[in-house]
Amino acid sequence: MNLWGGVDFGGTNIKLGLVTRQGRVISQTTLLTRQHPDPDTFVQGVASTLRSLARTQRAHLLAVGVGAPGLIDAERGRIHQLVNVPGGWRGIPLARLMEQTLGCPCAVDNDVNVVALGEWSFGAGRGTKHSVYVTLGTGVGGALVINGRLVRGMIGSAGEIGHTSIALTGPRCACGRRGCLEAFVSTQAILRRARRAIREGASVLRRLVAREGRLTPEVVARAAAAGDRLACQIWREVGVSLGRGIANVINLLNPERIIIGGGVANAWRFFAPSLHATLSVYAFEAPLRAVRVVRAQLNDRAGIIGGACLAWERE
Ligand SMILES: [Zn+2]
Repeated sequence: MNLWGGVDFGGTNIKLGLVTRQGRVISQTTLLTRQHPDPDTFVQGVASTLRSLARTQRAHLLAVGVGAPGLIDAERGRIHQLVNVPGGWRGIPLARLMEQTLGCPCAVDNDVNVVALGEWSFGAGRGTKHSVYVTLGTGVGGALVINGRLVRGMIGSAGEIGHTSIALTGPRCACGRRGCLEAFVSTQAILRRARRAIREGASVLRRLVAREGRLTPEVVARAAAAGDRLACQIWREVGVSLGRGIANVINLLNPERIIIGGGVANAWRFFAPSLHATLSVYAFEAPLRAVRVVRAQLNDRAGIIGGACLAWERE
């Protein structure tokens, strides 16, 4: 059996697995990022794990794709720099190092691009020509598949929808600017609003936080499900801000599908109504009729499946 390797390199975990040509994950496992703190231990750990998974499946590993969080020259398989990952990851020719160790073709790209490729091939974007992927979490990232190809831009930084501007003022973004979409809809933005809501009397939310001992977007979603008016208001505002950002994308690119993923997307039913209402105000009518804005489908397998898709691109 021929299989392809997908590696999802995150700040906490390295998820890796073997994938069939039909996009099915045959086996998968997780390594801890802190136990593979530099390019050398990463390559050794990933290579030996993939080899042993392939041995167990009696499979032939044909090629491997890696998604990593940062700025990456996908054409050369080279990492310029990573974010939220410890260790000296600057100017690392990761694809070449992996190829030397594994003896098969390897490709590297930005993690959001890789997940978008997975969703486009086997998830919510299947069968489309033009899909835009947006991930909502600690950061707000984006990736573009246009004419069935990832659009990476001149230096590989294309798709940064989180730092497109939707307001002249507003809270300060992690990038240091004001008015970025990310500053309105990221996990931190939601939690900041939730803390204010608790001070303003969001009683269900306050009770849930006291019981759980922590405040997360998931807790804000549960408060909304229980009818907390201020929690519902937070999600409405997330939908409005997201709608403004996505309306710009619709007017600019005329995509067929916009796919919303990431942890915050689990609250989809609370922000989707105001998102769609905002689109009908800010997006042009004809391209809005042509697009569907939907939730991602592959969840935590997206990075592994996308990694395999990236490997095929390289093969
Ligand atoms: Zn920003």
